[in-house]
Amino acid sequence: MLVDARLRPIKDLRISVTDRCNFRCTYCMPLDEYVWIDKKEILTFEEIARLAALFVGLGVEKIRLTGGEPLVRQNLDRLVARLSAIDGLNDLCLTTNGALLAERIEALKAAGLKRVNISVDTLDADKFKQITKRGDLGKVLEGAFAAKKHGLDPIKLNAVIERGVNDDDIIPLVEFSRQNGFAIRFIEYMDVGNANDWTTKKLVSKKEILETISARFALKERGRNHDTAPSVDYDFVDGIGDLGIIASVTEPFCSSCTRARLTADGKVVTCLFSQIGHDVKALLRGGASDEAIVEFLSAMWRGRTDRYSEERWQALRTANYDPKSRKKIEMISLGG
Ligand code: SAM
Ligand code: SF4
Ligand code: SF4
Repeated sequence: MLVDARLRPIKDLRISVTDRCNFRCTYCMPLDEYVWIDKKEILTFEEIARLAALFVGLGVEKIRLTGGEPLVRQNLDRLVARLSAIDGLNDLCLTTNGALLAERIEALKAAGLKRVNISVDTLDADKFKQITKRGDLGKVLEGAFAAKKHGLDPIKLNAVIERGVNDDDIIPLVEFSRQNGFAIRFIEYMDVGNANDWTTKKLVSKKEILETISARFALKERGRNHDTAPSVDYDFVDGIGDLGIIASVTEPFCSSCTRARLTADGKVVTCLFSQIGHDVKALLRGGASDEAIVEFLSAMWRGRTDRYSEERWQALRTANYDPKSRKKIEMISLGG
């Protein structure tokens, strides 16, 4: 089995299919304009599918399609169909802002997509517009219900909680997801990239999120799926609903991190907080054999030592953390 320098196997691959997005969420893409990756530098579906199959050969069991906003990439269903056909891949998921989901769901489902995560940070339409700058909550919820109608399961709603912005939306989001058969995942606000001006003041910890929900609903901890998932999951004692909290800041899970990332322009990244990517596109477009690419990916994974969130947590506890001290790749390129 291929393991990294800290004995972590490679099990998950997050593929960013585009750096572009139709929203400008304040915590992710706070600027109005970005310098986008040149279209010819973006991996084709053939290139992505070839790499994905090689990753599966190395141990990857689960692939998540992300971005930017993955549904702004034309004909994404064609990539889903290619990936669904890979032998040995157990799980294929899409993370989307949901804006284009209602119109694409039929083709995605037909191509083999079985589950989806949709980002919904508030159920207040005006606040939703403020957070996403360009988003229409009605369209996003339409997308979530369309996915439900087409039988996708589970459908997880993801909410990044930011103090003073949407910490008062925790309970409404829990109630909405319980009433409508969606799972809900709360995400601690992270200092991904350096554009979002993250400070600890804006962070609402897992402990606080849990206290807020526990004051209303009795919960029972289920733990991390397969012991390696980022989310700590909970059952509601009344049996209705499914809750998870992703505490990347206050309960870092680097020691069980089995995730690699592929950027839209063909770089493999071994950590969400990496400063550099490993250019696999040069090999792909330079005519390298599968064996040569596998050797490149294996060497990269063997050398992996990343544990950024653990280091950050240590520094935060000694009040010694400057989020901008390290140059990071922005989340839109990395695929969150
Ligand atoms: N556009 C899609 C979406 O919003 O679901 C997929 C890409 S987005 C970068 C992936 C996930 O990262 C989303 O759930 C988003 O909420 C999360 N995210 C973005 N910026 C974040 C931040 N600063 N802290 C925590 N999560 C963040
Ligand atoms: Fe776009 Fe998703 Fe980032 Fe929001 S979180 S700006 S929808 S990529
Ligand atoms: Fe994995 Fe890096 Fe996140 Fe740690 S900080 S859990 S190594 S992606």
